[in-house]
Amino acid sequence: MKRILVTGGAGFIGSHLCERLINEGNEVICLDNYFTGSRKNIVHLIKHPYFELVRSDVTMPFYAEVDEIYNLACPASPIHYQYNPIKTIKTSVMGSINMLGLAKRVKAKILQASTSEVYGDPKIHPQPEEYWGNVNPIGPRSCYDEGKRCAETLFMDYHNQNKVKIKIVRIFNTYGPRMHPNDGRVVSNFIIQALNNQPITIYGDGSQTRSFQYVDDLVEGICRMMGTPDNVIGPVNIGNPNEFTILELAERVIKMTRSSSKIVNMPLPKDDPIQRKPVIDKAGEILGGWSPKIQLEEGLEKTIAYFRNI
Ligand code: NAD
Ligand code: UDP
Repeated sequence: MKRILVTGGAGFIGSHLCERLINEGNEVICLDNYFTGSRKNIVHLIKHPYFELVRSDVTMPFYAEVDEIYNLACPASPIHYQYNPIKTIKTSVMGSINMLGLAKRVKAKILQASTSEVYGDPKIHPQPEEYWGNVNPIGPRSCYDEGKRCAETLFMDYHNQNKVKIKIVRIFNTYGPRMHPNDGRVVSNFIIQALNNQPITIYGDGSQTRSFQYVDDLVEGICRMMGTPDNVIGPVNIGNPNEFTILELAERVIKMTRSSSKIVNMPLPKDDPIQRKPVIDKAGEILGGWSPKIQLEEGLEKTIAYFRNI
């Protein structure tokens, strides 16, 4: 049994990760400030004798003896991370410093949930890990993108300077049950709009692309990454390379929900990336043949069922 700290554990991805780690027989400390997460996401784990919930903020130091740390704390949807951009960048930068300091002191392995946003509005398609990205340092998305880029730098520096055992995963658009219904991300927006027969809001003409990964595939990938030998540090892309336009996604959701919703076009937000698709060869190589198993249709079915239920 390992003692594992999951920061952001009450969020969408964190709650699935906590569940998996508990089911594998570990002791889990879930640390969250509930900015975008909720006790509801982990209420089914609270009675478990080896699950511990801590209301805290990663920008504050935290002391515990742990074997592994998954650093997921950070709002992930543009609406939420732009609500208080200074807090967002503090969460990535100070949060990483605090968690790396903890890892250094207790000699824990630490994994950073980085993002495809480090590639910005990419000029290379699809995106391999070697690409340095095309990020606007002073735009509305910068607090998130640059915060995550700085976090990667901090992880590498703690590794090189202090020999901290680090892992960096770059997560591409992930969806599934327990996404926040009001977080404004495209999959949850479209499903909720379709279920309510309300207009489907496509920003721009819908020709921009994303590659959508179901949450279970991601959790499998990040757990495998934590289990790799100490010399495997990443960064490694974890995503589903099947690419769709936003218009295709809207049409698919309308069809699957048998909705009478009509599509409406709204202005494209500033610096919205035109295309995004991961190269996942490295993940396949270092994560024991990992590849995404759940394709969009099946994943959407599960996610639609969840939103219908709530
Ligand atoms: P989420 O917003 O559901 O989860 C983030 C969690 O972190 C929430 O529970 C929130 O309350 C908590 N949190 C935020 N700031 C905090 C702070 N200062 N201290 C403590 N807790 C804090 O988002 P998610 O989709 O589950 O994302 C989890 C992680 O994965 C994030 O780091 C995000 O950047 C990364 N990621 C997600 C995606 C995606 O598509 N979902 C893509 C790339 C990267
Ligand atoms: N998007 C959209 N309608 C919505 C929400 C999002 O057309 O109601 C678009 C958004 O402009 C972007 C894509 O969908 O091009 C994915 O947006 P999301 O916020 O989910 O993720 P990110 O832009 O961070 O990849």
